[in-house]
Amino acid sequence: MTQPHVLIVGAGIAGPSLAGWLTGQGWRVTIVERARSLRTGGQAVDFRGPVHRTVLERMGLWEAIHERRTRLGKQTLIDASGRALVELPALMMSGDVELHRGDLCQLLFERTRESVEYRFGDAPTALCETPAGVEVEFEHHAPQRFDLVVGADGLRSNVRSLLFGKDTDCLKHHGYRVVGCTLPNALGLKQRGVIYSEPGRGVSVTSAHDEEQVRALFVFTGAPLGPHERSPASACDAVSAAFAGAGWETRRLVDGLREAEDTYFDAIGSVHLSRYSQGRVVLLGDAAWGGTLGGQGTPLAMVGAYVLAGELLASPESHADAFSRFEARMRPYATPAQDGAKRVGGFFAPRSRPGLFLRNQLYRMLTSKPLERVFEKLVTHAANAFELPDHGGGFATPRA
Ligand SMILES: Cc1cc2nc3c(=O)[nH]c(=O)nc-3n(C[C@H](O)[C@H](O)[C@H](O)COP(=O)(O)OP(=O)(O)OC[C@H]3O[C@@H](n4cnc5c(N)ncnc54)[C@H](O)[C@@H]3O)c2cc1C
Repeated sequence: MTQPHVLIVGAGIAGPSLAGWLTGQGWRVTIVERARSLRTGGQAVDFRGPVHRTVLERMGLWEAIHERRTRLGKQTLIDASGRALVELPALMMSGDVELHRGDLCQLLFERTRESVEYRFGDAPTALCETPAGVEVEFEHHAPQRFDLVVGADGLRSNVRSLLFGKDTDCLKHHGYRVVGCTLPNALGLKQRGVIYSEPGRGVSVTSAHDEEQVRALFVFTGAPLGPHERSPASACDAVSAAFAGAGWETRRLVDGLREAEDTYFDAIGSVHLSRYSQGRVVLLGDAAWGGTLGGQGTPLAMVGAYVLAGELLASPESHADAFSRFEARMRPYATPAQDGAKRVGGFFAPRSRPGLFLRNQLYRMLTSKPLERVFEKLVTHAANAFELPDHGGGFATPRA
């Protein structure tokens, strides 16, 4: 394969991260993104421990990320009167460095836009593998052949459906729903957050860059959601029903949701696949191993992109070997991280009063001085459980 041409589907985090490594070595990369422009929505994402940091440093992004960090401090579990029950250290909720997903997305785009061909407002509709490559049909663009295709198109990956069939039931539901949005900072929070929980429902409110605003996250028990049930209006109805009669400031927050402009609504689940690739097509990031919340999706996508690029650059003539080495490295790292997505609903909204009591007791104990080190290990263990290879490649740099 000389100068391979790779199609990456999805301009989120995983796609541009991989593209930067490949174009850095002279590969030709096209990214097709279904949205008409970069999707810079989302709440904060964080990085923790030396594995994440090393990848960011090798990408040359560590300083830029630091400059954009949220500086969020402690978050507090509170009761209905707003009284602090437990103070959670910043490391638990915000890692070593945290930034808004949109800032990261923009940063990756800026770093890769000159070397990568970006096509917005389009998506593949069919993939057909031939001995010469993958013939791809698009919604808008004329059909085109690529040497390799990477599905970096998120939790509900269409590439995954095209590859393994639409009915593959790989998105497992964990019994909760989540609604995120930006609201006015009526609580006067500054570089901190609060979490209020009742059985089966909980709301987290954290300060944002703009001191006039906060990020709110409503987590509540509920069934999986169909593709047409995730609109902002459905989110308002679902939250109003789930939080009816809830205490503390919840009523005000629920009322505020009606005015929010960036409402995000999803069910909490995670992706479980028996393999990440087939033929010349491979899945990366949330498409391969994602979880809605709490599964370290962003750093995993960036570590995964680094590893996949390394394996492809090591054997450009043999994508099959590269894909299987990529999966052998990533699966043992990504799978345990999915436990976070399984547990996150129960953390924000334990299902029963005894469950709520136990959560508070557990975190009171874990955050006590004598257990400081143990707790630190617990919240960084999954992130650190990886031996990062060094492929020596260079990440795309924009022209001066
Ligand atoms: C708008 C948005 C907000 C998010 N907010 C948060 C958050 O607050 N907290 C958090 O932890 N995680 C959030 N995530 C998920 C987080 O970005 C991922 O878990 C993680 O960064 C892995 O990234 P990814 O690139 O694999 O997936 P994503 O970041 O989800 O990117 C996937 C990209 O693929 C595009 N796409 C989807 N289908 C197609 C298609 N058929 N053809 C072409 N393109 C397609 C999407 O538009 C998207 O740009 C959000 C994702 C998005 C898209």
